[in-house]
Amino acid sequence: MVVVLPAWLVIELAFWPRVAGGADMLARLGLGTFTRATAYAQAHYRWFGAAVATQLVLCLALATEPVSRALELLLASGGPVRGAAWISMVCLAGSHGLGLAFGFVSGHLLDLQYGLTQQSTWAWLKEQLLARGLSAGFTAAAVAAAIWTAQSFGRRWWLASSVLTGAAVVGVMMLQPVAIDPLFDHYAPLAGRPGSEHFLALAQRAGFDPARLSVAEVSHRTTKGNAFVNGLGPTERIALWDTFLEASRADEAELVLAHELGHWLAGHVRIGTALALVAILAVPMLGSFVFPCPGPRDVPALLLALLLVRLSSLPVENAVSRAIEAQADWLSLRLTGKPDAFIRAEEQLARQNLSEPAPTAAAVWFFYTHPPAADRIAMAERYARSRPR
Ligand SMILES: [Zn+2]
Repeated sequence: MVVVLPAWLVIELAFWPRVAGGADMLARLGLGTFTRATAYAQAHYRWFGAAVATQLVLCLALATEPVSRALELLLASGGPVRGAAWISMVCLAGSHGLGLAFGFVSGHLLDLQYGLTQQSTWAWLKEQLLARGLSAGFTAAAVAAAIWTAQSFGRRWWLASSVLTGAAVVGVMMLQPVAIDPLFDHYAPLAGRPGSEHFLALAQRAGFDPARLSVAEVSHRTTKGNAFVNGLGPTERIALWDTFLEASRADEAELVLAHELGHWLAGHVRIGTALALVAILAVPMLGSFVFPCPGPRDVPALLLALLLVRLSSLPVENAVSRAIEAQADWLSLRLTGKPDAFIRAEEQLARQNLSEPAPTAAAVWFFYTHPPAADRIAMAERYARSRPR
């Protein structure tokens, strides 16, 4: 597995045919940006392969019988649940430590080299430690909860564990805009910003409360552009990155807002949450066949299984995400009727984020949460041809 996965990745990424639209993107972006963006993406893929291979080796080593037994002896004397939490934290500290080292090179140093970041190394490190600390804390709590349910409910542990994890995930998604996002960036209301009247009117036309539109002030850390919708029920909101608002024309930013409104109109956050809850039920249920009644000694193997599930489900997860994103694109075109602005917004985002202009089919299949820019532009051209004049 350790050798096969990176080897497979390299072969697929290097030799699969390019998706159509490469020549078109070359004409739109120019040779300089096209070459830089391609080199930037290729560097990411290489580091991703190396990071995954190293993390798999570490997780496999931790899950071997002598190591997991030693961890149990050292850390589980205070009871199985507390022991499981400690063992998880130690294993996750190792895994996140590796992730941090690879992320420093493939995230921070690479972005510095390509002029895509404004962050000092210290600011980057603080942000990473916070994000990874939250993620590790959540995973350790979920693993400790699984061990507690195994102690309390026996072979039915997977059901109780799924209910607890599912409730926690819904809670985190609901609290994200008010409790987690502000730990990383400051958010200001979009209303009152010069030129925001068009955006507020568009939101109103779509039936979205304009008071829930905000600007994420990220220019202190990145030059990339983005926008997103998150939160559930009373915390639902749409945020546009200030970097994109500053770099784009008003009608281009309007199209990006319309895309987010498309997500909201189609209920994509709720659909995504429902799919995540199905996975949270299915994975422990299948896991209970391998771990009928897990104890602290099984924690490293549970974490290895989680990593394998995460990696192998990535193509399916991303395929669903690409379908959802394509639907939001289509809705943004219907909301605004401006395919030309859509195409310019895509070009602007591709330039600003150095998005890979001509990815291989395999790279799209494995990594892409959104359709490649060439596909999105082709959709807008189809819309322009098909709409009634
Ligand atoms: Zn989207």
